Amino acid sequence: MICELCQLNIKQSWHLTMLFGLETIKQKMICSECWSEFEMIDAVAGCAECQIETNNEYCNDCLKWLRQGYPPIRNQALFKYNAKMRAYFKCYKFEGGYHLRNVFNDTLKQRLATINVDQIVPIPVSKKTYEQRGFNQVIGWLEGVTFAELLECRYSIKKKQSHKSRQERLNTEQPFKLAVGQNDIKGQSICLVDDVYTTGRTLRHATQCLLEAGARKVVSITLSR
Ligand SMILES: [Zn+2]
Ligand SMILES: [Zn+2]
Repeated sequence: MICELCQLNIKQSWHLTMLFGLETIKQKMICSECWSEFEMIDAVAGCAECQIETNNEYCNDCLKWLRQGYPPIRNQALFKYNAKMRAYFKCYKFEGGYHLRNVFNDTLKQRLATINVDQIVPIPVSKKTYEQRGFNQVIGWLEGVTFAELLECRYSIKKKQSHKSRQERLNTEQPFKLAVGQNDIKGQSICLVDDVYTTGRTLRHATQCLLEAGARKVVSITLSR
């Protein structure tokens, strides 16, 4: 078999890592060398919001969001966004490697099984992105998981906002709206799923949208950070 990421022959070196219970058959589509280059994140360390290393309860970025009145997100990320992960995303998201969803399907499914919520909600992609990419990269990983598409992307409202910088607009503009009626959300506990945590902007807005619609509690998980 050929590794889907490095194109080298897969050697029979999987048995050792399998002893630790982390790997399953699906991951054999890549070689153990490639798999070992993905760095798992310690789930209990760091900022209470985003797990980044800090000596305080929150990192400065998260503190800024919270002070602006955005709700907490308590994100867990599974893997570091290192060079290997960047290469994976390049193949998966941008070069149409839909089959590569299986590399992380089981790992994500296992983590989601430990989170006790009413609904699992993938972050949506815009219509334009969907047409270009042909799939939602988050939903790709959710094979075998029951999830609900409660959110959709709003059309970007193009107004003259010259007094605001592009970054300010990005930070404040709500990119999501409900895809269902409020009755489907009221009182529910929800876990959002996204691909990469960068600034936390996407998850903060999605969380805010769901809480305003009556969700009881929203937490989040991202594959990478
Ligand atoms: Zn490989
Ligand atoms: Zn943080």
